[in-house]
Amino acid sequence: MSEIKIFKFGGASVGSVDGFRNVGKIIMQFTDKPIVIVISALGKTTNALESVVKDYFAVNGQAKVKLNEIKEHHYTIIDALGLGESGCKEAIHDICVEVEWILDDEPNQEYDFIYDQIVSAGEMMSSKILYYHLKSLNAHPEWQDIRDVIITDNTFRDARVDWNTTTVNAQNKLLPQLQNGALIITQGFIGSTTENETTTLGREGSDYTAAILSYCLNANSMHIWKDVPGVLTGDPKLFDEVTKIPRLSYREATEMTYYGAKVIHPKTIKPLQNKQIPLYVRPFGEPTSEGTIIADLQDIAYPPIIVIEPQQCLIHISTRDFSFVAEHHLSAIFALLAKHRLKVNMMRNTAISFTVCVNQVPERIKRFEDEIQIDFKTLRDEELELITIRHYSIDLLKDMKKNKLILFEEKLSDTVQMVVKPIQSMKRKH
Ligand code: ADP
Ligand code: ASP
Ligand code: MG
Repeated sequence: MSEIKIFKFGGASVGSVDGFRNVGKIIMQFTDKPIVIVISALGKTTNALESVVKDYFAVNGQAKVKLNEIKEHHYTIIDALGLGESGCKEAIHDICVEVEWILDDEPNQEYDFIYDQIVSAGEMMSSKILYYHLKSLNAHPEWQDIRDVIITDNTFRDARVDWNTTTVNAQNKLLPQLQNGALIITQGFIGSTTENETTTLGREGSDYTAAILSYCLNANSMHIWKDVPGVLTGDPKLFDEVTKIPRLSYREATEMTYYGAKVIHPKTIKPLQNKQIPLYVRPFGEPTSEGTIIADLQDIAYPPIIVIEPQQCLIHISTRDFSFVAEHHLSAIFALLAKHRLKVNMMRNTAISFTVCVNQVPERIKRFEDEIQIDFKTLRDEELELITIRHYSIDLLKDMKKNKLILFEEKLSDTVQMVVKPIQSMKRKH
């Protein structure tokens, strides 16, 4: 069989009619190969659907109005692509009707469960539009409901994949079609429990979906098409002087994404590394470019790479009676951090205090503090940034520190991390 490729197109690539046309053009260059295309919701649709969920629970009468706006926006794209009579609108209508049924009920169910049932509509709709668009280009796409393949537990909004069942499903349901050279269109971000309840894999999870399918199908390569030339030395939305890193090891990519480089979802690399599948991060604006290749590469001399993770919180935890923070205290603190799903980005202990830098997720921090205050005192610094510089130079470090209040810093041989008050650096874009 010829090589299996997995492509992933994110929201930015299908944010407009021209975006859709461009995606269609890229795919048409590969229709002679077996290929799975994973697609995200259009542009900012996921955010818009999140606000439908909020309005539904707020019972403010806005949920259906907003859902209708989302539907009309999809219809506009369908019309502009010349798909008005193709059956595509009916498909979008049906997906929205299912959401309306939920909105007709009283909001008595769990928020996270309802969130997944509603927000998943974004990927269901975008995948239908891409399917009909490719049909209109005379390709022969097949549309696959990914919920029949990716099976997860019922941790709604952050579902964990059941790898065994998912692999069996992928091998049974997708591989035979791919062996016949199929072009399969499917949804990123979503999965299903064994009870047929829709789940989501966490925001920006479509990269991860593509990696799951790559792993389960033993794909030859995975390609994520982005609005950047590849992986860069920093986020171009924050810094002017960034350059492309043409080659990255799995390890370097994992470190970057773990610290918060938004270009790839952090869970993406592991499944690919485990099967040694190369990942190409490619510009959808320049489809002939290889972009950045991420693989089992050694001996690369990396330039300094800056990763900024906003919305950080420092929690200072100290004993109430001036006793030392001992190992059994740390063990109890970590049990609570895990219980409340707070991601630890940095930490430090002194004689009577322990400080931890976590992502600022207010409701989780509150639940954590409520419980830990039984035994400890806590103090919080909020609205902070975590700056990670890999392969730092002394000059760059000096530069990054200018005009900043540094609350916490750690220096290893190849990585510096600092927690700072938001930066107004002269290098920053406004
Ligand atoms: P999509 O959702 O369309 O797949 P994302 O918006 O999630 O794409 O990811 C692309 C964005 O990642 C870029 O527009 C860029 O602002 C951001 N980004 C952050 N860090 C980096 C980096 N080191 N290299 C490239 N892009 C980065
Ligand atoms: N549409 C989802 C989101 O915006 C998943 C993704 O785009 O990767 O989070
Ligand atoms: Mg995205």
